[in-house]
Amino acid sequence: MYRRPIFAANWKMNKGPSDTEAFAKSFLNKLTGRQTSDIVIAAPFISLAVLTEALRDGRGIEVAAQNCSQFDDGAYTGEISVKMLREILVRHVIIGHSERRSIFGETNAIINAKMIKARQVGLKLIFCIGETLEERNAGKLESILRSQITEGLEGITAHDLEDSVIAYEPVWAIGTGVTASAEQAQEAHAFVRSVITDLYGAEVSGKLRIQYGGSVKPNNAAELMACPDIDGALIGGASLDAQSFYDIIQNGSPS
Ligand code: PEP
Repeated sequence: MYRRPIFAANWKMNKGPSDTEAFAKSFLNKLTGRQTSDIVIAAPFISLAVLTEALRDGRGIEVAAQNCSQFDDGAYTGEISVKMLREILVRHVIIGHSERRSIFGETNAIINAKMIKARQVGLKLIFCIGETLEERNAGKLESILRSQITEGLEGITAHDLEDSVIAYEPVWAIGTGVTASAEQAQEAHAFVRSVITDLYGAEVSGKLRIQYGGSVKPNNAAELMACPDIDGALIGGASLDAQSFYDIIQNGSPS
C-alpha cells in the first residue's frame, strides 16, 4: 500500500519568533518544485503563531506543537490547552516524546490523556514511542513498544488513527549521532505495524504512517526511507538548519 511520506521537524526548545521567521523565509525559498512528501514543523509554543502566519502561502506545510495539556482551561499554571493550539491554526501535536517521558515524568497514562484531549479538538497526533538502550539490551524491545502503544492508544479510535502518525524513536539514537541501522529500524517498524494490526486490523495498520526518529541526517535519510515500513522521519537537531531539513526531505522523498 502506498503511504505518502511525512517529514516533521522537532525544534525542541530552540528558535524564538525572530529565528522562526528567518527559518520559514529561507526554507520556503528552497521549496520550489512539487513536493512528494508532507512537511510539518514543530516549534516552541511562543513561536507557533509566527510560524503559522509565515507558512500561510498555500504550499501546505503544517505546524505542530511539541506538547499540550491533558486538561481543559483553568488553574493549570504554565500549561497550554488544545483549544488554544487550534485557535492559532496548529494542526498537529507531538505527544510522548522521550524527553517528555524521561525529563518531565510523563507516563503512558498521561500521554494517553493528552492524546484523547488532542483528538477532541481534531489535532493530528504525532505519537512517539521507543526503547532505551538498556531495554533493548535486556531483550525488552517488543514488550516496551507493545505497552507504550496499547496504553498510549487506549480509547483512540481507528478514525483518530487515520489522522495520526506514530514516530518510532529509539531513545539511544535521539540526539546522539548514533542512528539505528536500516535493518534495526525496519524490524522495529514492522513490529509496531503488527501491534497496530492486532489492535485495529490490517486496513488501519496498512494506512498508518510510521516515522523514524533518531539522528536522521541528509546522508542517511535515503537508506532509512527506502525501508518498506518507514514512512518519513521526525527530525530534531538536523531540522534546525533550513538547508539540512530541506536536504533530508529531498533525499528521503520519492522522485
Ligand atoms: C527528536 O528529538 O525527535 C529527534 C529525533 O532528535 P534528533 O534528530 O536530534 O536525534
